[in-house]
Amino acid sequence: MQLKLLWNLQELDLSIMELKKNIEEAPSLSGVNEARESIEALEKEHLAQNEQLNVDRKSLKQLEMREQKIVDERNELNESMYEGKIKNVKELTQMQRKMDLLAEEKKKLEEDILLLMESIERQEVEIQVTEEKLKKSKQELQEKENQLESDLDHLNQELAKLEAERGQLAEKIEKKYLDKYLILSQKNQGQGMARVDGDICGGCRVFISAAQRGHLYNPSAMVYCENCGRLLVNLDCQ
Ligand SMILES: [Zn+2]
Repeated sequence: MQLKLLWNLQELDLSIMELKKNIEEAPSLSGVNEARESIEALEKEHLAQNEQLNVDRKSLKQLEMREQKIVDERNELNESMYEGKIKNVKELTQMQRKMDLLAEEKKKLEEDILLLMESIERQEVEIQVTEEKLKKSKQELQEKENQLESDLDHLNQELAKLEAERGQLAEKIEKKYLDKYLILSQKNQGQGMARVDGDICGGCRVFISAAQRGHLYNPSAMVYCENCGRLLVNLDCQ
């Protein structure tokens, strides 16, 4: 009977081990980290887009100011030229030349302003796209975090239940069996005991010698596999 209990203890311990592994791996399997990384990348992109937009908006303002200055300058020139104050032909020719140059500059400026305005419009659309992606990614992250939290709650509850069961079971097992089990279990990755099935050790799949087989029918005898050293249990006799 003790060996049967010990076998059940091993089954429980293996389940507990598996559960702990699941709890440990849950965060990386949940996709939460990837979702956080993707948000971080999107936020960087968003920041860079906004910085570029600000630079371009400033440039646009400067171009517009320069354009306004040209308009003012031309108005002034125009007034001087047509008020009739200036009679000097050479001076008038120089003024006309300046007017033409300013008109040329204004034309070039208008082209630049138009291009920049178009670029700013495109950037604003791109920023909106990034913001939508960010919003969606944040929602997905929230869902993944909620799922992870609920998975972990569930796994931890299950673990607490199994550990309580293990405690109750261990109390029913004599110390000499428990001690032996713990030593063998450590040596064999949690599988210090092996079931005998058709005269074969369930741990290493090697035949059990005839001499040992006899002892396996004594339910309280501790018989070990000669090949792998595991404590053998014949569940049919327990
Ligand atoms: Zn064996």
